[in-house]
Amino acid sequence: MNWKTIAVILAVGFFLARGSRKKRIMISKNFGLDEFTKSATAKRLGINNEPDVTALMNIQELVNKVLQPLRDGLGVPIIITSGYRSPALNAAIGGATNSQHMKGEAADIKSNDNARMFNYIKNHLPYDQLIWEAGDDDQPDWVHVSYKGVGNRKQILRYYPGQGYQDI
Ligand SMILES: [Zn+2]
Repeated sequence: MNWKTIAVILAVGFFLARGSRKKRIMISKNFGLDEFTKSATAKRLGINNEPDVTALMNIQELVNKVLQPLRDGLGVPIIITSGYRSPALNAAIGGATNSQHMKGEAADIKSNDNARMFNYIKNHLPYDQLIWEAGDDDQPDWVHVSYKGVGNRKQILRYYPGQGYQDI
């Protein structure tokens, strides 16, 4: 191998490493910040979806108190389908005007068994709001969970598409 080849390999390695560091800022053992900020809609419409410091702190709390303990308790991957939403993104997707997603306090999540995930949070973890989203009596299509540092309401709701929310 001559020095030119070695230089090219080093340069490619450097840029790959730099790129992967940018994409994966880990906020716990299993969750990266990109999982909370990525949004196909934001990308498509050119909307900035970077959380501010307060939202970042709330995301970290949600992960520390709910999502990582949930991941550890169930031992299966948790997929975040919607995490942080900037006010512009929330408006673009028609989210509730007071949505906790805008504060970094809420996440929509899925796993291989959404009902088990819902029940694990309900029985073992702190939360502000826990929502059984759509689906049927056996499985929700996804679960919404929020957490606040102070004043968690421990509210449990079910969302029926086209009808709204009901206490359960
Ligand atoms: Zn949600």
